[in-house]
Amino acid sequence: MSFAASVLTLYPEMFPGALGLSLAGRALEAGTWSLEAIPIRDFATDRHRTVDDTPAGGGAGMVMRADVLAKAIDHAAPPGDKRPRLLMSPRGKPLTQARVRELAAGPGAVILCGRFEGVDQRLIEARGLEEVSVGDFILSGGEPAALVLLDAVVRLLPGVMGNAVSGEEESFENGLLEHPHYTRPQEFEGRPIPDVLISGNHKKIAEWRRAEAEKLTRERRPDLLRAQPLVK
Ligand code: SAH
Repeated sequence: MSFAASVLTLYPEMFPGALGLSLAGRALEAGTWSLEAIPIRDFATDRHRTVDDTPAGGGAGMVMRADVLAKAIDHAAPPGDKRPRLLMSPRGKPLTQARVRELAAGPGAVILCGRFEGVDQRLIEARGLEEVSVGDFILSGGEPAALVLLDAVVRLLPGVMGNAVSGEEESFENGLLEHPHYTRPQEFEGRPIPDVLISGNHKKIAEWRRAEAEKLTRERRPDLLRAQPLVK
């Protein structure tokens, strides 16, 4: 079973974009996942192919129309389609590695990319969209956010990452940021690789890495420690 992504967008040319290269691109070619970029404008009904209108209540900007978006979503995900329907949105729940894992274990995702001021609230409610944010900042559109989400998901699909173990030891997987990495040369601009890493003592190395990960997390992301007790 391969992961099927359907992305609803005003800019289908943005896909697969960066996901057509490297690991994700090879997996796309191999059929490990599929990507369909659906042009929202195809579902407009008027002569000018209008997808947005002025906000009810006034104010700046434009709002994407519920009726046009509903047609596009119903085309992408007809009744019976079990894939979660996501709306990329700065108001959404921040994306986490845990949610990424869940998505990667499922059949795929239908992803709506907003533009302008966003989408009509009634569409979100009527189609049960899950709002997902990629961080506390504003993008000009949902497309880069969708690319970020799909990149995170695709690398977890079976067979995509060469070395599967590296996925499990990464930042967030155990509630901690990852320890620092080093490689040759042995000395760089007067800075040696920490002795313990060249000691060959695997137990000591594991302890050092664990301690560094905890220190880094305490310094940079104490919220992660509060969110989840340390896995021992
Ligand atoms: N007026 C909105 C921002 C609209 S930005 C507000 O203040 O909340 C236009 C579109 O970009 C959004 O509809 C959404 O699809 C996308 N977008 C912007 N920032 C995002 C973020 N941090 N995460 C996910 N999508 C985002």
